[in-house]
Amino acid sequence: MKIFTCGSCSGAVYFENTACMSCGAGLGFVPDTAQMVALDADGSATLVGNGTSTRYIKCSHHAQDNGCNWMIRDDDADPYCVSCRLNNTIPDLDVPGHRELWHRLEAEKRRLVFTCMRLGLDVSPKSVREDGLAFDFLADEDPTFSERGRVLTGHDAGLITINIAEADPAARMRMREQMAEPYRTILGHFRHESGHFYWDRLIAPTGWLEPCRQLFGDERQDYGEALEAHYQNGPRSDWRDHYISAYAASHPWEDWAESWSHYLLIIDTLNTAWNFGLQTDPLHVRADAVEIAQRPNPYDETDFERLMSQWMPLTVAMNCLNRSVGQEDAYPFALAAPVVQKLGFVHRVVRGLPL
Ligand SMILES: [Zn+2]
Ligand SMILES: [Zn+2]
Ligand SMILES: [Zn+2]
Repeated sequence: MKIFTCGSCSGAVYFENTACMSCGAGLGFVPDTAQMVALDADGSATLVGNGTSTRYIKCSHHAQDNGCNWMIRDDDADPYCVSCRLNNTIPDLDVPGHRELWHRLEAEKRRLVFTCMRLGLDVSPKSVREDGLAFDFLADEDPTFSERGRVLTGHDAGLITINIAEADPAARMRMREQMAEPYRTILGHFRHESGHFYWDRLIAPTGWLEPCRQLFGDERQDYGEALEAHYQNGPRSDWRDHYISAYAASHPWEDWAESWSHYLLIIDTLNTAWNFGLQTDPLHVRADAVEIAQRPNPYDETDFERLMSQWMPLTVAMNCLNRSVGQEDAYPFALAAPVVQKLGFVHRVVRGLPL
């Protein structure tokens, strides 16, 4: 993720901020230019460049209750930003607590949308194109959906459903313990489910399908039976030698989605480190180590091996930092060679590189 500065006082601000912590200026994120801008008194902002000036106004969710901090062009026919317009269903906001949970989900969803846009992946909503993307944010107790029983997070033909309980840290921790997972985050859910969406778009109808099957397995094996077997018997005992997570071992589709999700995690985190100028070659052991200022932005790096050679030492640094502040490891993963190969495959698909 980029480092953002306040358009008014140039102080550092976070991607999620709706106001500057230093000068109090109202802030908005302009997805067109990936810029954080300071807002005028009327909540708008005008960007001038290349001899043109474009006026931006708040996304409707931004204007209503700061549930978003993104901006839209003032002549946009859709009142919602590129992230909010993906919503098909939002939770019942009259239920106490729902608004807060929903806002947390939206904040993480905007990170996913930012990453996808930065990678040049299409994020058109279903309302605009039939094979586009849409989100249902549902609650277990929502009477409208009670016939569904428990809301299961998942993907179906571009519609991603997220159980809003995932935004409650205590509930998420309970789920994590139940499933014996070392890592469970809202952003991880968004990334994972987007993997299913982009499989339909980038793999199924393309020449990538056969090579994908060779690496991840044949996805035509019965999905329901595979998941049932996974929950009944657990993963194969040597899953760590082949998969990024135990869940990835359940079915080729899940292996793909977990690998996709992990690839987005790596690129976004490497990009954050790059923006902060973090050097992760503390022992100066790599003869080929390039000064970080000379490295390309990880979002633009096409050499997968180079990305991985930066990633491994960064994960050790991240974990050491977390241990220093008394927290669990930020990165509880070990990447076996077949897993790296799968990540490399995702890299080639995303960047449109030959196999
Ligand atoms: Zn400021
Ligand atoms: Zn919005
Ligand atoms: Zn999945």
